[in-house]
Amino acid sequence: MREEPFSCTLCGRCCMGSGRYIAVLKQTGPREYRCRETITRREFTARVEDRHLSLFARPSVQWTHPAACPFLRQDGVTYLCTIRASRPPFCREYRCVRMRVEKGAAAVGELRGKTGLKTKDAALLALWEGRIAHLDLQDREGRAEAARILEGAGYDPVWYVEAEDLTGTAPPS
Ligand code: SF4
Ligand code: SF4
Repeated sequence: MREEPFSCTLCGRCCMGSGRYIAVLKQTGPREYRCRETITRREFTARVEDRHLSLFARPSVQWTHPAACPFLRQDGVTYLCTIRASRPPFCREYRCVRMRVEKGAAAVGELRGKTGLKTKDAALLALWEGRIAHLDLQDREGRAEAARILEGAGYDPVWYVEAEDLTGTAPPS
């Protein structure tokens, strides 16, 4: 199964609507906040990172995008998560594009969201909907099974993962 590190462009689009998923319960230190994931109701401690302290002190993105995450800040043309190392699990697992499908050297499909494949290849779409869409693609075994099915039909899937998923170590901060 081919895997590649996901390359985020820091466009910030995914965090612009995440404010409703993260409730700040209280400030617990000069740069620490007790928070709750509103879907799972799990609590976590968000720590603003040293390197982002001055950025965090700038006006929140919520001033211009009310639905944005409270920890998102604009830095020039990019948007940064100021609590990256302590961000909640749903942020760690999120990738706006989860995999691409190649045939020959060309990309013929792209998986956005949980199961919806975007493709103009009718045979690939039929294969996806008939044999793959029902698999648990959050799970590594499910992804491996999807890869076997696609490879058996002449396609080459490439899954995007975080760098730490590939190396087993935390990314540089
Ligand atoms: S994960 Fe995707 S949508 Fe979110 S900031 Fe990165 S490139 Fe943009
Ligand atoms: S915690 Fe970070 S990654 Fe998660 S929504 Fe907020 S800014 Fe985005």
